[in-house]
Amino acid sequence: MTTSTPQVRTRVAPSPTGDPHIGTAYMALFNLAFAKSQGGQFILRVEDTDQARSTRESEQAIFDALHWLGLNYDEGPDVGGPCGPYRQSERLAIYKEECDKLIAAGHAYRDFSTPEQLDALRKQQTESGANPGYRGEFRISSEEAEKRAAAGEPHVIRLIVPSEGECVINDRLRGEIKFPWAQIDHQVLMKSDGFPTYHLANVVDDHLMGITHVIRGEEWISSAPKHRRLYDCFGWQMPELIHLPLLRNPDKSKLSKRKNPTSINYFKQAGYLPEALLNYLGLIAYSMPDASEMFDLSQMIASFDIGRVSLGGPVFDMAKLAWLNGRWMREKQSADDLLERLKSWMLNDDTWRRILPLVQPRAEKLSDIVPMSAYLFADMPQYDAALLIPKGLDGERVATLIRIILWEFEKMRSWSGEQAKNSLNAIAEKESVKLRDLLAPIFVAISGAPVALPLFETMEIIGADMTRRRLAHALAKLAETGFELKGKKLKKLEEEYQKSYGR
Ligand code: GLU
Repeated sequence: MTTSTPQVRTRVAPSPTGDPHIGTAYMALFNLAFAKSQGGQFILRVEDTDQARSTRESEQAIFDALHWLGLNYDEGPDVGGPCGPYRQSERLAIYKEECDKLIAAGHAYRDFSTPEQLDALRKQQTESGANPGYRGEFRISSEEAEKRAAAGEPHVIRLIVPSEGECVINDRLRGEIKFPWAQIDHQVLMKSDGFPTYHLANVVDDHLMGITHVIRGEEWISSAPKHRRLYDCFGWQMPELIHLPLLRNPDKSKLSKRKNPTSINYFKQAGYLPEALLNYLGLIAYSMPDASEMFDLSQMIASFDIGRVSLGGPVFDMAKLAWLNGRWMREKQSADDLLERLKSWMLNDDTWRRILPLVQPRAEKLSDIVPMSAYLFADMPQYDAALLIPKGLDGERVATLIRIILWEFEKMRSWSGEQAKNSLNAIAEKESVKLRDLLAPIFVAISGAPVALPLFETMEIIGADMTRRRLAHALAKLAETGFELKGKKLKKLEEEYQKSYGR
């Protein structure tokens, strides 16, 4: 008798909150390369169970970014497939049904403990040096729980885990990882609003979507025991786990937008070639069997071996990426190819139709137009940091204001010059700073000069991601001149910001 091995199926499961993250592309690349190298399938699942933070704009941006990079998936919310829906918010009935089975089998329970009870417990645990976490301390009998639930009392559903012994996880790259069960708490599976948590939805979906290999970031290793437990309680086979090393800033900290661009849209707007960006994401975490530095997706797939992933933290180095991109432009593109790239990037009629109304009132000759518009096509503008500090403000105040603007801009769900303007007006008022003083440094940060085309239209043309990058670049320039917001000062500012602006 022959046993057929199931077809390899992998997935990337981003949460659609904020910009399409470079980490999503990195995970997608390795999931896709692994699946395709074995004749399998690669799936996109949208994990949008955080209702407050998930948006359709952000989801669309993920689809667009993955398609731009050529990381095409066989199944997903926008392409369909046999295991849909591929959006978790559309699968609530499935999670409820599976969760009810866990309750019926005695693996999970309805929990009515209050935030005050949980706070008191945490305090007591910290004081006595016990492992923090909730392990059913306020659990009530199931009869009473069912009664209170039937009466409509809000509650969560939690998973029971063993109180002693060890949970052993196998990771393809890291081998056995052991966790004492006593350190694992009774994870919430279902929130009081009827939405599942990541853990429940992720396990149920991976199973129902036939995922055979879970390739994800190492920050999820600590979730693996909860997942192991869920698979065991459901009686399902757990997919093989492969935790990839996280992308890092050059200082080795976890890649963050404060220190590095992280939005795929920024890389697109800055004119990186998608092939070069993919090549770079492959190169920093993986070595090709022939040690080549330049390779495309099909070459990576042809010889892919997940064992060649290096576990040392892959550092995302912009200078190295730019160097590799330059090589792609020189070695893999003819002049005609580049011309086509330029056209589909920004040098096209659509972009010029947006720019011309801005230059028309200002230009005297045709030859004025291109120099006047050059900074719209550039990456980071060059200027003297002193230009960022207008007469009425000092450097630290400017840095503080730019930081606040960046936070406000990061919160925006859609982007237009008009929205940017309204936001800046509101900030000026809230911070009691003259609009003129607030706009002067922003103008320089965006255009690289005190005189240029109108600010808000410029922001609209270069887009949200490039706008934010240029503001972050201005902050970095101010930091170099001694006006750095960091440590306690930054923390305090962030707290004040959250208090007065809300989340
Ligand atoms: N939604 C999770 C994320 O945003 C997915 C993690 C996983 O792959 O299991 O990274």
